[in-house]
Amino acid sequence: MAASSRPCIVWFRDDLRLSDHPALHFVATRGAPIVCVYVLDEESDALHAPAWRPLGGAARWWLARSLRALQSELAKRGVTLLLRKGPAAKAISRLAEDIGADTVAWNDIAMAPHRRISDDLVAALDHLGIPSRIFPGDLLVAPEQVRNKDGRGLRVFTPFWKRVLATKPDKPLPAPDTLPASEVPDGDRLDDWLLEPTHPDWAGGLRGNWTPGEVSAQATLADFLDGRIQGYADKRDRPDTDGTSRLSPHLRFGEISPRQVWHAARFAADNNPALAGDVEKFLSELGWREFCRHLLYDVPDLATRNLQPAFDAFPWRSDEESLRAWQLGQTGYPIVDAGMRQLWHTGTMHNRVRMVVASFLVKHLLLDWREGEAWFWDTLVDADAGSNPANWQWVAGSGADAAPYFRIFNPILQGEKFDPDGSYVRRWVPELVHLPAKFIHKPWTATPVELASAGVRLDQTYPAPIVDHGQARKRALAAYARTRA
Ligand code: FAD
Repeated sequence: MAASSRPCIVWFRDDLRLSDHPALHFVATRGAPIVCVYVLDEESDALHAPAWRPLGGAARWWLARSLRALQSELAKRGVTLLLRKGPAAKAISRLAEDIGADTVAWNDIAMAPHRRISDDLVAALDHLGIPSRIFPGDLLVAPEQVRNKDGRGLRVFTPFWKRVLATKPDKPLPAPDTLPASEVPDGDRLDDWLLEPTHPDWAGGLRGNWTPGEVSAQATLADFLDGRIQGYADKRDRPDTDGTSRLSPHLRFGEISPRQVWHAARFAADNNPALAGDVEKFLSELGWREFCRHLLYDVPDLATRNLQPAFDAFPWRSDEESLRAWQLGQTGYPIVDAGMRQLWHTGTMHNRVRMVVASFLVKHLLLDWREGEAWFWDTLVDADAGSNPANWQWVAGSGADAAPYFRIFNPILQGEKFDPDGSYVRRWVPELVHLPAKFIHKPWTATPVELASAGVRLDQTYPAPIVDHGQARKRALAAYARTRA
């Protein structure tokens, strides 16, 4: 193909990587000079509640670091990442006009607001006579490809996943060897976007636990598949082990694509058939990400609307004090408090514990799942517009393929089962570090002497439970029964 001398624009969105980036690959193979741009868009008309929310604090931190990593990888190839702020369709069409672009290319994001922005950009470019190219995006399979007979998305995971498995995702694309750089007009400075906290700088725990960016995403995947995946099917439920991939924020920001993960995992199983069961389980978790995103495609207001309308009548309580105790990890239930503190400190929480703390909020405290979802949205580095509300609704019982309403996690038994010697709790709730394992998930059952010898004074060094498990369970069952009636 003859190279055009006019530059092609690649618009980066939640796909902050160079490999398996179809839009970048397309432009690179044309041989034309490339302008890479990222737009911080909090202004487009398409971005309005409830379908869209600005990024939460932890995700903003991640975005800043991820953009820095992308800048550095592009710079190694002599390309500058141009940063612009504003409504994306306007910012990019103006850029395309200013530099006389040959084509603008980007990857699809199958979410309602993102699709609308994409449509607006296509229209603006059409008006200028500049072609646009859109490529399959950040999912294994586009939502349009997995529909039931009525044209609706599937609401039950198992048949959904079977359909996705049957489609066999395409092989990932390599990163371009060379990228012909182009003159780049002036853009914003990343620091001026103030994505990272300064006063106060609360991100120390995030910096200590994570390295955003494609290089780190690939290394994390390789490290996981090289060994840690062994036993995943069992270990993945244990917060006291390092048994999961830790890929979720990398996937959230598209530093790695789901099909890269998919094919690498399948390759690992082909090379070592003993891993087959663990790989299948791991891929089905990736399937839940896909399921949540397909659900979001059909239900753009997933973060605010109960999927099951019966829940609109649910008698949620309003109780600021309990909500605050939950957020701060001061409920008196050690596994809940450990999870909430892990979240605050590191921007993540183990999946099993996410389920326990979510169940505790909606069932023990009878607080609206949207309160918990919003807190997670602000504090998770992997806060995802599909996975977060879909999982909250799943736990609350109001969602798709949801946990039955009568499934009320017992935080004591969950702790004893999945953190049997209490090492996870000891790590995040240091006040209890000297408590023997038999009391670590129920400190209030220890005698005063036992507590004293562990240095624990209930309600002074560590709270007594803010609700009684048995009574809270009865209250929740009654509320759910009333709603169903
Ligand atoms: P692994 O066990 O290694 O799984 C591999 C990948 O599969 C993950 O990286 C993730 O992309 C996907 N995945 C795993 N479990 C789920 C699941 N239940 N739903 C959707 N995708 C899944 N995940 C997010 O990515 N963003 C969120 O905002 C989010 N909010 C959640 C809220 C609640 C209340 C609950 C119960 C779960 C939530 N999850 C969310 C799902 C899950 O907890 C995380 O994806 C997982 O803990 C990430 O760790 P990992 O990458 O080591 O997972």
